[in-house]
Amino acid sequence: MRSYRGLIEKYRDRLPVAPDTPVVSLNEGDTPLVELRNLPRLLRRNVSIYVKFEGLNPTGSFKDRGMTMAVTKAVESGAKAIICASTGNTSAAAAAYAARAGITCFVLIPEGKIALGKLSQAMMHGSVVIQIRGNFDDGMRLVQEVAQTTPVNIVNSINPFRLQGQKTVAFEVIEALGDAPDYHALPVGNAGNITAHWIGYSEAVCENTRACAFCQGNCGFHRGRLATRRPIMLGYQASGAAPIVRGRVVENPETVATAIRIGNPVSWQQAVAAKEESGGWFGECSDEEILHVQKLLAQTEGVFCEPASAVSLAGVLKDLELGRIGEGSTIVCTLTGHGLKDPDAAIAQSVQPLTVDAELDAIERVIRERLLQV
Ligand SMILES: *Cc1c(COP(=O)(O)O)cnc(C)c1O
Repeated sequence: MRSYRGLIEKYRDRLPVAPDTPVVSLNEGDTPLVELRNLPRLLRRNVSIYVKFEGLNPTGSFKDRGMTMAVTKAVESGAKAIICASTGNTSAAAAAYAARAGITCFVLIPEGKIALGKLSQAMMHGSVVIQIRGNFDDGMRLVQEVAQTTPVNIVNSINPFRLQGQKTVAFEVIEALGDAPDYHALPVGNAGNITAHWIGYSEAVCENTRACAFCQGNCGFHRGRLATRRPIMLGYQASGAAPIVRGRVVENPETVATAIRIGNPVSWQQAVAAKEESGGWFGECSDEEILHVQKLLAQTEGVFCEPASAVSLAGVLKDLELGRIGEGSTIVCTLTGHGLKDPDAAIAQSVQPLTVDAELDAIERVIRERLLQV
C-alpha cells in the first residue's frame, strides 16, 4: 500500500497542478475528524459535534494546506523568495515550506503580538523575521506594496493558490461523514479560510463538466459530485476584532486569540458571500468565552487547540443555547491550530503545578486530597 503523500497528491485532479509541477509537501492534510463524546452530554444537547483538528498538520495549523500549494506554485514559476504578513501561523507554515523548497522566506509580524510557539517556528526554519511596530493589517498593506518593487512572491491568502489548497478540508469532511454536515463553523480572521471551505463544499456538489455557478471554472477536472448538499456556514470572530459582524473596519483590533486579531479582512466580501449563499451567519465571542471553551474542550475531550480555534466551538455552543442551531443537527467545527502554539495562554488560565518535597507521604497526601474532592 502506498502511504499518504499530502493533499496535492491526493486531490491532484481537483487542484491547479500539472503532471510535472514540482510538488513541495510535508504530507499535510488528512487530519482527524473527532466526534465530541462528553461535551454534548454534559451540556444536555442532542447534537453531533465533530471537530476537524487542523492543529495536527505538520506545522500545527491549517495554514499548511494553503502553503503546500502556494510554495509549489511559487517554485514552479521560478520564484526564489516568498513573503507574508502574519499573525503567526502563516509565517510558521511559510518558513517551513520555504525551507523544504530551498528558497528564502521573509515574514512580517506585529511586534510582541504573536504566540511564542509560532515565533519559534519562523525563527527555527530560518526565515527572515521582520517585526513591525504595527498590527497585522499594517503588515498586509506593506507586503502588497513591497511585492511591487522587489522580486518576492506573496503567500498570504490573497494568493489564490492558498485557497485552492485550503478548500481540501471540505473534501475530507465529506469523505469522513459521507456527505456535508448541516453546519460548518470556523473562526474568521482574514476570512480566507471560510472562503476556501465554501469553495471546497461548492465544488463538491458540482456535477457539471464545465465551468458553472458553483465552481466558476476553478475546480479543474470534475470527477462527479462528492456531496449531495452544502452546509450552512457559521463564521465567528472575537468581540475585539469583529469587523464582519459589526460591518465596519476595526482600527485597533484586540483579542487574546492573536491568530484572528485582524481589523480589515482581505477576503471580507467572499466571506459574506459564503454566509449569504449558505444561509448562515456571523457571530462573536468575548475573550472570556473563547478561553472558557478552549479549556472546556481540553479538559472534557482531550483536544487542545489554540484560543483562536476555540471561537468556532464557543460560537456554536452559544448559538445552540440561543436555539439558533436546532436539536439533532450535525455540526463540524474547524479547530484551526494546535494549543501548543500558544503555551503562555494555556499556562495563564490553568491550575498551577503543586510543589512538594520528594517524599512518598507528600505525594500520597496530594492524591488523597484530590480523590476526596471527586
Ligand atoms: C489564520 C488563522 C485563523 C484565521 O483564518 P483566516 O483565513 O485568516 O480567516 C484562525 N485560526 C488560526 C489558528 C489561524 O492560524
